[in-house]
Amino acid sequence: MKIAFVVPNMFETRAFDAIEPLVFSILAARTPDDIDIVFWDERKEDVPLDGNVSLLAITVETHTARRAYQIAREYRALGVPVVMGGHHPTFLPDEALQYCDAVVIGDAEGAWEELIKDFRAGALKSKYSQPDIMQLAGLKLDRSILKGKGYAPASVVQYGRGCKFNCEFCSIRAFYGKGLRQRPVADVVAEIEALDNRHVFFVDDNIFVDRAKAKELLRALVPLNMTWSCQVSIDIAQDPELVDLLEKSGCNGALVGFESLNPINLQQMKKGWGVKRQDYETSIKILQDAGVMIYGSFVFGYDADTPDSFEETVEFAIRNKFFLGNFAGLVPTPGARLYDRLREENRLLHDKWWLDPNFRYGDATFIPRGMTPDQLTEGCHWARTQFTTYGSIFHRLWDRRTNLKSLHRAGFFLAANYVFRRELRGKHGQSLGSEMPLVPAGANA
Ligand code: SF4
Repeated sequence: MKIAFVVPNMFETRAFDAIEPLVFSILAARTPDDIDIVFWDERKEDVPLDGNVSLLAITVETHTARRAYQIAREYRALGVPVVMGGHHPTFLPDEALQYCDAVVIGDAEGAWEELIKDFRAGALKSKYSQPDIMQLAGLKLDRSILKGKGYAPASVVQYGRGCKFNCEFCSIRAFYGKGLRQRPVADVVAEIEALDNRHVFFVDDNIFVDRAKAKELLRALVPLNMTWSCQVSIDIAQDPELVDLLEKSGCNGALVGFESLNPINLQQMKKGWGVKRQDYETSIKILQDAGVMIYGSFVFGYDADTPDSFEETVEFAIRNKFFLGNFAGLVPTPGARLYDRLREENRLLHDKWWLDPNFRYGDATFIPRGMTPDQLTEGCHWARTQFTTYGSIFHRLWDRRTNLKSLHRAGFFLAANYVFRRELRGKHGQSLGSEMPLVPAGANA
């Protein structure tokens, strides 16, 4: 028996900034030894549409749902059953089941073993889920499937799952529930020590939500003589001990979700806590003084945004010498309260933008209050373009605390900005998936 693991691509072009997908390393380690595994990551390589496999397992995000359904259709036509998991099928299992045979809802561990047992017995069910919250102690990974794919040069490691916050546009709470789960620090340290890479990206959605546990991890990282980056919320800058540990343990970069400079927007998205005790610029300075290169993430389209918000935000990101910056239109995704609110307010432009053949990457998906949908689309594109001009890159490089701290850092900054500029500009206006028609089971092509 042979199982194929598939990461679908958003577009038809390859991605140069793809990071290692951990989910299939975890599933590979939980697949019985007598089953052969083949792994195709369409961001980096073609997925054969006539592969000789017994079962296809696809991980699906909302932006890749269209492509996932297209690949599934080809395999099901060959008589190969298709299983889907990930955020999108978790929130819309019945939509996914129009295109596949089974969905895994929530964490795949545990459910995966049951699914394989049923598949071997010829009794695949349509829905699988983990009855209990999956604890992370002893989590094993098989990284061999990732070798040679050409991912971004940082090994992806997970410390924990979940977030204590519940920002309106985010579906992390809906996916993982209220509980926070962290792996034992000794497990994480052993995993890092076994890597042949001294740079790690912690893929947790917000690694410092449990400050005490975060400090425990950081203390254990200090002797490892490594560098690492992560995703955080800006409130960590209010904790001097944590900032000190960031510097000592080798943190050189953090993706920070600033989202908006407007406090009314932050209140509306339930993220006002980030500036409650300390304003953004003070927090940024504290992190940068500790050597942390900041990748700032912003969204536009909340009710207090106007066409002036784009210029103000880009100027802020360039002035603060951000390593990288993302400027995205707010995207309502299934599972997030934002999606339900905008639908109730009749402001969605497409009921399901992710399946709409006319939707293009970067397009507004709803009617904002302070501008037109076209102004939202064009404003975000303008902001990305301005942030990635060569003049902006050169200006942002010039910070001896962070981007220009060493020759190695400067080289990394320039290489990352080159790839980022190319990827951002290339994505704009692309359609999702391929030209293939999207046909649910039972319908005619
Ligand atoms: S956006 Fe970040 S801080 Fe907010 S709920 Fe999601 S993961 Fe947590």
